Amino acid sequence: MPELPEVEVSRLGLLPHLLHEPVVGCLARRADLRLPMPQDLAARLTGHRLAAIVRRGKYLLFHWPTASGWLLLHLGMSGSLRLTPPDAPAGLHDHFDLCFPRVILRLKDPRRFGLVLWLEGEHPETHPLLEPLGVEPLSEAFTADCLAALLKGRTTPIKTLLMSARRIVGIGNIYAAESLYRAAISPLRPAADLRPKEIQRLAASIRETLQEAIEAGGSSVRDYVHSDGGAGSFQLRAAVYDRTGQPCPRCAAPIRQIRQSGRSSFYCPRCQK
Ligand SMILES: [Zn+2]
Repeated sequence: MPELPEVEVSRLGLLPHLLHEPVVGCLARRADLRLPMPQDLAARLTGHRLAAIVRRGKYLLFHWPTASGWLLLHLGMSGSLRLTPPDAPAGLHDHFDLCFPRVILRLKDPRRFGLVLWLEGEHPETHPLLEPLGVEPLSEAFTADCLAALLKGRTTPIKTLLMSARRIVGIGNIYAAESLYRAAISPLRPAADLRPKEIQRLAASIRETLQEAIEAGGSSVRDYVHSDGGAGSFQLRAAVYDRTGQPCPRCAAPIRQIRQSGRSSFYCPRCQK
């Protein structure tokens, strides 16, 4: 599943090719993905220049002030964005094209859990999908104090809480596991039991882990392909994620796998307390 770093890498990869370019066409090849796709985008957007691409959690938002709205994209479980030449034939799972003079932005989504929506107006943050989202872990607002406030009084295991998008948006399973490992905190600890020093370490390790993943080009899990067609590499450097039974890089104890809230958690039982 594309995670926050992959979505941010897509955004950064698309910007230099698409920003300020005029839309010359738009094509939805299906009526719906997870929700119905807008069928009138060509009429709305043709001739309008793309003014911005911003990210909120794992959502990408494309802004056309002159068309008074935003296009919201979500990659779902298996979606990927690519830039293709204008004459490239579409594949079986290529469900949506946004066409510019020199390139097509093409959404491929075999499992069709992705989203393409048109948000009318200038305030996409009030949309029901975006309004409940928690703090951005890479924003200046995400400090140790902010994290402490989110954990206060919560008996939920810290790993489960980190993956709650209503509190912190977009950390995801891989990065929750790696951040807890770096901070030497067990995924099983009740959130409210973390001490101030641990919360400081955890806030820092979340930012570092996500930032490193972005710099490494995002991890490539399953179907994700970069906007430029390359593959990410962060996954190769994971210390605990998907490394059940392999030695901990720090202490050589075998990495343990457990289930938490229906998801796999990976951790070092010796280093993470
Ligand atoms: Zn260890």
